Amino acid sequence: MSISRTGATPVPTNADETVERTYLLERVGEAAVVQLYADGFEALPVNQRILIWHLYEAAIAGRDIFYDQRYAHNLDMRDVLEAILTHPSGDGDTDAEIRRYTKLFWINTGPYNNLTARKFVLQCTPEQFAAAAHAAAANGATFPLRKGESLEALLDRLKPMFFDETVDPSVTTKTPTDGRDILQASANNLYAGVTMKDVEAIQEQYPLNSRLVKKNGSIAEEVYRVGGLYDAQIRDVVRHLTSAIPYATEPTAQALRALIQWYRTGEERDRRAYDVAWVADKSSAVDTINGFIEVYLDARGMKGAWEALVYYVNATKTTAIRKLAAEAQWFENRMPWDPQYCKENVQGVTANVIDVVIETGDAGPVTPIGINLPNEQEVREQYGSKSVSISNVNDAYDRSMDEGFRSEFAWSDEEVARARRWQAFAHELATDLHEVIGHASGRMHPELGSSPQTALKEQYSAIEESRADLVALYFLPDPKLVAMGLIRAEDHDDVVRAEYENYARTPLAQLRRIREGTMIEEDHMRNRQMIVHWLMANTNAIEKRTREQKTYYVMLDPQAFREGAGRLLAEVQRIKSNGDYAAAQALFDTYGIHFDSALRDEIVARVDKLKLPSYTGFVQPKLEPLRDADGTITDVRISYPPDLTTQMLEYSEATRRSREQFRASH
Ligand SMILES: [Zn+2]
Repeated sequence: MSISRTGATPVPTNADETVERTYLLERVGEAAVVQLYADGFEALPVNQRILIWHLYEAAIAGRDIFYDQRYAHNLDMRDVLEAILTHPSGDGDTDAEIRRYTKLFWINTGPYNNLTARKFVLQCTPEQFAAAAHAAAANGATFPLRKGESLEALLDRLKPMFFDETVDPSVTTKTPTDGRDILQASANNLYAGVTMKDVEAIQEQYPLNSRLVKKNGSIAEEVYRVGGLYDAQIRDVVRHLTSAIPYATEPTAQALRALIQWYRTGEERDRRAYDVAWVADKSSAVDTINGFIEVYLDARGMKGAWEALVYYVNATKTTAIRKLAAEAQWFENRMPWDPQYCKENVQGVTANVIDVVIETGDAGPVTPIGINLPNEQEVREQYGSKSVSISNVNDAYDRSMDEGFRSEFAWSDEEVARARRWQAFAHELATDLHEVIGHASGRMHPELGSSPQTALKEQYSAIEESRADLVALYFLPDPKLVAMGLIRAEDHDDVVRAEYENYARTPLAQLRRIREGTMIEEDHMRNRQMIVHWLMANTNAIEKRTREQKTYYVMLDPQAFREGAGRLLAEVQRIKSNGDYAAAQALFDTYGIHFDSALRDEIVARVDKLKLPSYTGFVQPKLEPLRDADGTITDVRISYPPDLTTQMLEYSEATRRSREQFRASH
């Protein structure tokens, strides 16, 4: 699923019911703000709802940690912005600019674009900003002043952060162009005054969960733990996790206890014990990811950024995936390739399909669509890993998609209508087939000594992705899917057409992402280009047409499409099974890599006219506990306040006390 698009288009939420509700809430510059729904929450048993409540509180309690990790000035900047925003000055233009900037600041967790890592700045003048701040102060706003600091001095201190693009220009710089040190060139707060050379000279005791600081010529590790850095926030996280334990299943309770232990000591062995306990908890309906996890923020790739996700298993969709996995052998026996490449005991690849209730820190408001953890290779090999695909995020992306984007590349109104009705459903089923059946299928030639990766080298990923896509395209029209109850018979033709039409449009639409050169590097993109162009050259399934100087790829014949996909799949499997590097190279060189720059320019012009967003921030569900006369929580209510500002201010308010303690401590 790609990051998408403008314009709320309410569409049926499933094949049977029509619910009109808003997904796209607003556009802020190149960002879309989209509402996330957690429909299954209300159907969960009450103890699971209460469990989610406590985990949700833990997720909010740690949110400020990631703000501080991302930029040392972030929390002060946010408090200043929020103070002004909640006490508007009455100068309409300045207020509007501060609102715009603050929304981007929240979505990106600070002044750095999450895609490019580059800094963005306020576009009013420092004088206008100062006037707004003073007006807010006069209206009763409080500011994050240091001891003895005036409001003027505070604004002065933060002025370069708000206004100067050249001060701390990039949050993470893995390849500085000016030959600077990667840690020095990165503005994040995982290191202070430290260079790569300094780091190489020491042995870190807490590689994942410490900040390295150079003090008087030596390097100190400030450990993220109770009693260490972020003590106030971590204590709150631990308190909420502790409250969650009585409502958890035994495996979840064990994982939560292990997590608390890690937060207390910060020690590597306790982090590992937590990973192991978390992986062991495979069948609980409710789960959380909470801690210092992903390392993308660190140019060095070592320090974990804090994040939290709370989610429950989407039982309906997970059941569909398990159904497919249970039939993996049926599909394997009917693969359109040489029987010698069929596996005898094939196991479908399964992941849980989940709906998230909240994502904070490194995981929100811009969120992942799938996760596979833990990251430590040794734990994965010994104990396995857990994979989730985040259904309600995928769904919200799709339903907030701009109608103009769909229709721009569709040949007819009929195609647009079919896409609107079926594309999301069809794409989800095709993705399940790709993951569960496609990647699991096939076997190597018995005499091929080396692994396919070794033999196919840089062609391997594109071949493997093509194989999985082709398996999905080939089996989507199979009556077996109706027999399994995955599609209704009367919808089957439309679902197949919607997916084939979308698939044919994609190679055109994706050219918008390659604004320079005439070659495609990314493997998933190569795979789609190759399949569609091969079908165009070898079947009558897809035709290239032009209308008013616009190019279209029109899917004409689903039978020819399927037959062609089967033929190509047989060849792609042969290439993989035999490690036929030359054939793989020829296939992609002919159909998958090169494109015409004039066509790309045409596509870019068409897409730019639509002003599509380049990323999305999500507004998440809001939970509220219901209490009895003694204050005991008896149930939890979910609602959807469709407003980013309200939600962000609520989260900040919830951590005001720990933020003050944190400031007082250093
Ligand atoms: Zn894949």
